[in-house]
Order: sequence, then C-alpha cells, then structure tokens
Amino acid sequence: MPDRNSPSDRIVEQLQEEIRSLETRLEEVHLYTHVLLEIARALNASLDTRVIASNIISAISALVAVEKASVCLCVDLGKSIEVIGLFDSATPYPKFPPNYDFSSIRKIMGEEKTVYYPQHDEGPWGLVCCLPLLSAQRKIGCINIHSIRQPEITQSQMEFLETLAGYAASALHNALLYALVQRDSITDGLTEVYNYRYFQRRLREQISLCQRRQPHSSLGLLILDVDNFKNFNDRYGHQFGDTVLKTVVKVLATHLREEDILARYGGEEFVLLVPEATDETITTVSEKVRNLIQFTRIENPDTEEEVSITVSIGATLWRLEDTVTSLIARADNALYRAKNTGRNQSVLE
Ligand code: GH3
Ligand code: MG
Ligand code: MG
Repeated sequence: MPDRNSPSDRIVEQLQEEIRSLETRLEEVHLYTHVLLEIARALNASLDTRVIASNIISAISALVAVEKASVCLCVDLGKSIEVIGLFDSATPYPKFPPNYDFSSIRKIMGEEKTVYYPQHDEGPWGLVCCLPLLSAQRKIGCINIHSIRQPEITQSQMEFLETLAGYAASALHNALLYALVQRDSITDGLTEVYNYRYFQRRLREQISLCQRRQPHSSLGLLILDVDNFKNFNDRYGHQFGDTVLKTVVKVLATHLREEDILARYGGEEFVLLVPEATDETITTVSEKVRNLIQFTRIENPDTEEEVSITVSIGATLWRLEDTVTSLIARADNALYRAKNTGRNQSVLE
C-alpha cells in the first residue's frame, strides 16, 4: 500500500488544489473579460440612457445572482435623482414601493467609492451595494443592488462590478452630453422654447401630414408679436425686456395643449402650431392667448412696479394649395392687419 500521507503526496495534493483554484479563477476571468467586452459594445451602441441602464442591469445579472437592482441619475446637482432602470426578478413591471425613501441612495450618490453592506436587513428594496457612476470627476449617478440570491458579493465579482460601473459611467456621460446638444440645437437660448429651425421642421411635417390625410386633418398657425416692445425696452431696459419674453413663454406653455407647438420666431415674435384646428378653435385659442398675456402682471424688480404687455396675433388655417411659405405669409399678413388696426387683437385670415 503506498503511503498517501507522505510529505511529497501532500505537496502534490496541495499543488493540484492550487491548480484547480487557479483554473476556476482563470475561467472566471475569461467569463468576466468576455462579458465586459460585450458590455462595452452594448453600452456604446446606444445614446438612450434608459437602454444603457437596461444593458447595465443585464450585464450585472449575467454574473451576480441579482434579485433587485436600479440605475439612478443625479439631477439638479444631486438634489434629486431620476430612476432610469429598475429590475426585479419577480416581475416584468418592477416598481419601487410607494413612498420609497431615496435619501440613502441620494447620500451614497455623493460618495466616490463603492458602498457595500454585506449584512443588509432593510427589506427587499434596501441597499446591498451601491456603485457610484463617475465620469471625468463628475458624479453622474449610481448603480444599486437591492437584493441578491447569493450569500455575498465576492471580491472578484466586486472588481467586475466596479469595472462595469466605469464603462457604464462613460456611456451615460456620452448619452447625457448628446441629449444636451440635441436639446440645444432645437431650443431658443433665452426663453428655452423651441427655436425657428425646429418650428420649420415641425411645420413641414404637419403640412405633409395634412396633405396625406386631407380632408380629415387640419392645422392652425398663429404668429404673435409683442406690442410696442421697442418702447418697453427703451423705458425699462433690455434685461427686463428679456424677463418679459420669458414670462410670455411661461404663461403660454402652462396653458396650451400638449400637442400645440410653441416656438420663438425671432425677436419678440412667437409662433404657435395648432394641429387639428378649425375656424372656431383657432379663434378661441388666439383670444385665449391674447387675454392670458394682457392680464399677466410682471413685476419690475428695480421699481417693484407691476407692468403689463399686450400682443397682436395673426392666425390662419392650412389650405390644400398651401406651402410652408404661403401659410406663413398669410399669418404674417393677418398679424400686419392686427397691428395696423389697433394692436392687442387677433385677426384670422
Ligand atoms: P410693434 O407693436 O409694431 O410690434 O412694435 P415693436 O416695438 O414691438 O416692434 P419693433 O419691431 O419696432 O421692435 C421690436 C423690438 O424687440 C426691438 C428689439 O430691441 C426688441 N427685441 C428683439 N429681440 C429681443 C430680445 O431678445 N430681448 C429684448 N429685451 N428685446 C428684444
Ligand atoms: Mg416684431
Ligand atoms: Mg412687436
């Protein structure tokens, strides 16, 4: 009988054990590398933050037995958070519990390092692990693991999660920058309403929709111009003039329908596209807008004086023979008549 416990056998056994452990580790590293490559590809394939969040959660689930997870973005410099991804293995329609307290997530979001609670016991949506998303020193948000189906997150899994968080942060950073550029390219810098370029695009779209659907579709166009705005600027200064333009937008934006498209045409002129408008509705909208503006009081911060303004409106409806140019020209003409016959009125042509 060979002696199985001879020193050399024990060394062989130990070495075999180490080889097995190294092989397991190697397999794990292979798997992680493969998954990370897939992730890098998937994350860079989209500029939609919600798609990226869903890819992040799929990647985590591929290697950690996750039951509940979320991806959050920092909003308003960390004052609030936006949940862009949510996963619950128990349901395809996951939801945070009503009145969920986000304060601990908000607090951890300000950290620069991963926070791990191996002994978590705050219920199913508590926090097991929170990975901050940092890109170019900026805190973008965090990945949260709320519940797992394994006793703990291992050291190598944690390394993987942290590498993943790095990829995720730069993908989300790119997507956020892209959204910002997209938004800026269609927004007026002063009033934050749509700009002339966007208005032209939507007008072309709406006209071709009317042409395709005629006679079952219609479109109304309003051009608004602030009355005697030059005098207003001269009297109260340009800065207060800017405040007035912002106020006009604010008042209109809160009272229009969601499908109406408001844009700054230039200077103190605004345009409003009203889909599916009739003679009656376009007149109602024009008068509503005119009244909203004339009864708005705007406080001059220098003198505390409350001032008011009025607008003149040119309105028209799309006709079969209309092009973008002819439609705008008719609304412009109606505006001209409103100005020349007394201002603070709307004319439909
Ligand atoms: P009307 O009733 O005929 O429209 O007279 P008006 O004075 O409003 O028209 P006019 O075209 O003579 O003057 C428009 C003024 O709008 C001149 C310009 O200084 C002012 N304006 C244009 N863009 C801006 C802006 O962004 N901010 C401010 N404060 N004023 C602006
Ligand atoms: Mg004008
Ligand atoms: Mg004007």
